[in-house]
Amino acid sequence: MKAKRIILAICVLFNTCLGLAASDIHAEEDQVIKVGYPIQEGLTDIDENGNLSGYTYEYIQEMALYNGWQVEFVQAEGSIDESLITLMDMLEKGEIDLMGGMSYSAAMDDIYDYSSRSYGIAYTTLVILNNKTFIVDSTQMQHVRIAVHKNANMRLRELNEFCEMNLIEPEYFYYDSTEAMLNALTSGEAEAMLSTSAEKVDGVRTVAKFAPKPFYFITTSGNSSLIQEINLALQNIEQTNPYFMSEMESKYFSHGHDELILNDDELAFIEQGNVFKAGVLTNQPPFQYEANGELKGIAVDVLKAIAEKTGLNIELIAVSTPGQLDQMMADKEIDISLAMTYDYDLAEELRIQMTNPYLEAQYIMMMNDTTNTDDLRDKTLALTKTVEYSRIETSSTKWYDTIEECVKAVNNGEADYMFGDNYMVQYFINQPQFSNVYLIPQTYDLRRICFGVVRQPNHHLLNIMNKAVMAFPDEEMQTIIFLNTTYDNDYNVKDLINKYPLTFIFLISSVSAVIILALVWGLRTKIKMSNKIQLDLKKHLQVYELSSDHFFEYDYASDILMISRKGAGGESVESFTKHGEMSETDERGQFYEQVFFKLLKEGKDTSHDLLCPMENGDLHWYRFIFKTVCDDLGNPAYCIGKISDIDDEKKEKERLEKQAQLDSLTGVYNAAASRMQIIEDLNRLAADQHDGLMLIDIDDFKHINDSYGHLNGDKVLCNLAQLLKNNFDAQRCLIGRPGGDEFVVYVRDTNREELGQLCEKLLACVADMVNDDEIHVSVSIGAAIASAGDRFETIYQRSDEAMYNSKRNGRNCYEIIG
Ligand code: GH3
Ligand code: MG
Repeated sequence: MKAKRIILAICVLFNTCLGLAASDIHAEEDQVIKVGYPIQEGLTDIDENGNLSGYTYEYIQEMALYNGWQVEFVQAEGSIDESLITLMDMLEKGEIDLMGGMSYSAAMDDIYDYSSRSYGIAYTTLVILNNKTFIVDSTQMQHVRIAVHKNANMRLRELNEFCEMNLIEPEYFYYDSTEAMLNALTSGEAEAMLSTSAEKVDGVRTVAKFAPKPFYFITTSGNSSLIQEINLALQNIEQTNPYFMSEMESKYFSHGHDELILNDDELAFIEQGNVFKAGVLTNQPPFQYEANGELKGIAVDVLKAIAEKTGLNIELIAVSTPGQLDQMMADKEIDISLAMTYDYDLAEELRIQMTNPYLEAQYIMMMNDTTNTDDLRDKTLALTKTVEYSRIETSSTKWYDTIEECVKAVNNGEADYMFGDNYMVQYFINQPQFSNVYLIPQTYDLRRICFGVVRQPNHHLLNIMNKAVMAFPDEEMQTIIFLNTTYDNDYNVKDLINKYPLTFIFLISSVSAVIILALVWGLRTKIKMSNKIQLDLKKHLQVYELSSDHFFEYDYASDILMISRKGAGGESVESFTKHGEMSETDERGQFYEQVFFKLLKEGKDTSHDLLCPMENGDLHWYRFIFKTVCDDLGNPAYCIGKISDIDDEKKEKERLEKQAQLDSLTGVYNAAASRMQIIEDLNRLAADQHDGLMLIDIDDFKHINDSYGHLNGDKVLCNLAQLLKNNFDAQRCLIGRPGGDEFVVYVRDTNREELGQLCEKLLACVADMVNDDEIHVSVSIGAAIASAGDRFETIYQRSDEAMYNSKRNGRNCYEIIG
């Protein structure tokens, strides 16, 4: 009977392995997945009868169907912010498995694992009431009264940038709820309101959207099998219904859009039926390229849709190089270029006009996976003329004609790194042959893509295209992007191994497990057929010799321990119990007596990672796996097992854990580590004791980057970090970099007066700070006093508020709240 069960177990194991290796077969049935469910309108919603719905909800149900999950939605008490924090804490601890709706941040990536595919994109938007008209006209200054949520700091920054770019002079009105903001629109107090595309608000329509943020699923760190299931399910949803994402967008997100309204002059201009020639580059996927004699790509599809909506007569002309395209535009042989970076200087240089951007993409750095990112100065950058990326200072650059050649060069190590945008990168990374690269999103910059229009005697063509771009529906854009960035995978076995290394590791471990099970079974038979024992052992030792691990077998009845050594056959220790007891006197002997010997005598199936004393006195990590075979009466007869050297693996893990806490540029704590340590300090705070949190943000840092280059900007960040280290006692203070040009200093056991003195001293030291190129910087400081019971978020928000007050008060000063 037992033998039968073992064989059954082997079969199930094989089926599971094959199921994972072939991506179209479902994983194990009825796996319970706990999903964090904060109530967020549009994403994860609940009605008065307790029915769940929403964008994320439907994606999870689709993934559950595909993976055979049984889903348990877990909610948490409190406001949206409170429940989000509770659920994210639970996710960090592994009490729940998964949450959706998360945009990417390096700090979060330190704590959680992200799905490699996003399942939607949220924009920051400007909306107006349905019955009002308003057009963002970036050719003249517009004064606009805008309602904003008082806590929407990040979105406000994005809006400020948008206003600056589009000649809008905003006047802000602050409210504490969406309802109050809507009332302000109705009463006429505000004309427009700041929102996001993921927020469903009735009665309004979007007039501008910017700052796209793809969102992802996250899991507890290290849950790679779940991440794999999510990735496969998202891939399957895309393949079986490419419109699923846009259907979800229009069902849960869409705000009405600007209608395309053309005036009489423009209609008459179209009526004339002039043919406008659009130059399509043939090798710039996924934006524009030629395949099987057909011109394709995101930009081509958008232009075709615009032609259809407006009635413009557009002829596509294939052009092979960017240089040729520029020349044809200069000679006025072509009227429109398809995917141009939205850059005033570039437009001026080419002497052409630009439409509003129809797409915004995040810049991504793609690196060869053997490249060390610590210092890029001596690394080789692959560049093409088609991606203008100004933040580059490098000693060695290799120029290529196309992005594809750059990707190939980075993939095969000919160059170390390159820049692209997220659409390009997604297109290439989807292809199995590019597996030697990894990606670093460049969060502080966006690539805006627009049409270039050759200067015409009048502005009609530009205006019509601009209006069509503004009125282009999100859903249609999402579908176009999706259809153009999904690559039809045609994998061979090597590609599959590259693409699903975990699955293959799993497959190989499973085969080892099967071998062990087979050995267990073999040993059982051996008990009954004792005359074959020696022969069997010899055979096993042959198998063991193939492995770099040590295998052992212990016979409880004869007290003999057999140990295999790679390439050296087996060693047998007779009277092992006596041997163990005898070596009790020295340190190593005591270890083996207390640990290995005891575990062996217990006669259980276990696995232990142990730090073992070596002959030379060093400590070394080994993994011990014990499997016990019992006789018919249930008494242990044999124990077989494996000893694997996991020292490198463990030490690498420890090193990575330590490194993961530090910001790679400045060496101070990164966002996640500083948050965690501050939370620990706050929890330890006694009733009558106070700590202080200082937020330090460099003034006009963008200007430093723009004037002296990104590398000099980086040096300033390093100098400031060093200055903070010199100024603040490491025993008493914690220094961190939450991101960008912002630092935190957490001072234990202080008071308002001392904190004020520290701020003043810091301002003075920063003023004296010596940087290359005589760059002078100042900082604005916001500080808050923390008392026992204060939460991290509250203290951080208070300091942030104080820091903004300092900015408003003219910078180079400090403010303390609380
Ligand atoms: P303000 O006085 O209002 O703070 O103006 P600012 O120009 O400093 O504006 P803000 O703090 O919002 O901008 C920070 C800039 O820092 C934006 C981004 O371009 C730049 N940045 C972010 N991370 C890095 C980095 O790692 N290195 C460099 N060189 N620049 C960065
Ligand atoms: Mg700043």
